[in-house]
Amino acid sequence: MPNRNKTIAIVNGTGRQAASVIRAVTAVGYTVRAHVHSLQGLVAEELAEIPNVSLFEGALLNNSVLIDTIFEGAQIAFINTNPLGGDEIKIGKALANAAKKRNIQHFVYSSMPDHSIHNPHWPALPQWACKFTVENYIRQLGLPSTFVYTGIYNNNFTSLPYPLFCMDFKDNGRLEWRAPFHPDTKLPWLDAEHDVGPAVLQIFKDGPSKWHGHRIALAFEMLTPVQVCQAFERALERPCKYVFDKHIDVRVPVPNGYREQLAGIEILFGQYNAPYFPGPDFDYETKRKGSNDTITQGRSSSDSARKPKAGKLTDEARSLWPAYRPIYEYAKEAFIVEEEANGKTWMI
Ligand code: NAD
Repeated sequence: MPNRNKTIAIVNGTGRQAASVIRAVTAVGYTVRAHVHSLQGLVAEELAEIPNVSLFEGALLNNSVLIDTIFEGAQIAFINTNPLGGDEIKIGKALANAAKKRNIQHFVYSSMPDHSIHNPHWPALPQWACKFTVENYIRQLGLPSTFVYTGIYNNNFTSLPYPLFCMDFKDNGRLEWRAPFHPDTKLPWLDAEHDVGPAVLQIFKDGPSKWHGHRIALAFEMLTPVQVCQAFERALERPCKYVFDKHIDVRVPVPNGYREQLAGIEILFGQYNAPYFPGPDFDYETKRKGSNDTITQGRSSSDSARKPKAGKLTDEARSLWPAYRPIYEYAKEAFIVEEEANGKTWMI
């Protein structure tokens, strides 16, 4: 049955997270009012073709008219801001205020952690901590809200020379991923385009009675960098090696503010081997395969007295959406298509 009376307000509509949500919710009849930075481009054109999607082009910063327009007639919202749009704290608070004014019944906000509150040595990553500030503001407003924490996107990987997730093709066809993540520390992974939409759709269907105030890790696999390279190796049938390197090489121009983010990542993960998602919500204890040793996933130095949660960090995401795309399948099916679209010919 189409949900004719449910309208969803969305920002950064052409981004990987929001576009995935738009595809999933419109497939079952929801109406979408989405902000986009530009109406040009493949994704904007694809979204514009979907019935019941209205796109509103513009910049969100200091633009209360545009923000009010997005929330007009909406009952629920999926909000993922983007550093390219400018001051994410200002934009995030303005969006939360507009949602409050419109009595939005369920505000799903894509947040990220501020590591500095968990350990005095850990830096706050600028592009993540701003989202945590907005999360706290949303909580203070008392909006019925849920906070999704998205894992590392599978499709960050590219053989283009971008920093951090470059899957580098060496002359002899070998692959190499070089990054400041410890080789044996598990990281949370997510196929943003494939899996954010269906998971968020289920959060909306369950509603705030189930999820109000919750932090949900949108991560479907916990894999070490070495395991990620093993998955690429099997999927692409060529050797793939992980190299732990505390320094991130920046060989191409990057957007404003990203260098500071990368510098923080070098310290947080390269130097301190901090958990990707810190704090009690993400602190799970799991048995190491084949032994009685336990691994804790969200632990900081101040947490030693606290008992970790039972289960796995991926449990909630997998219960919301069991048909997720693992990184092996991503590498085998989607990575090749994306590489071809980027003009690469190694797969021929
Ligand atoms: P995206 O990176 O897929 O898309 C970026 C969007 O920005 C595009 O739709 C583009 O049209 C738009 N854009 C380009 N120039 C712009 C401008 N000047 N102003 C405003 N928009 C502009 O988006 P996404 O991945 O859905 O969301 C990005 C957010 O996700 C970031 O805040 C990032 O920190 C967060 N995040 C990313 C990861 C990851 O692994 N990549 C993980 C967790 C969180």
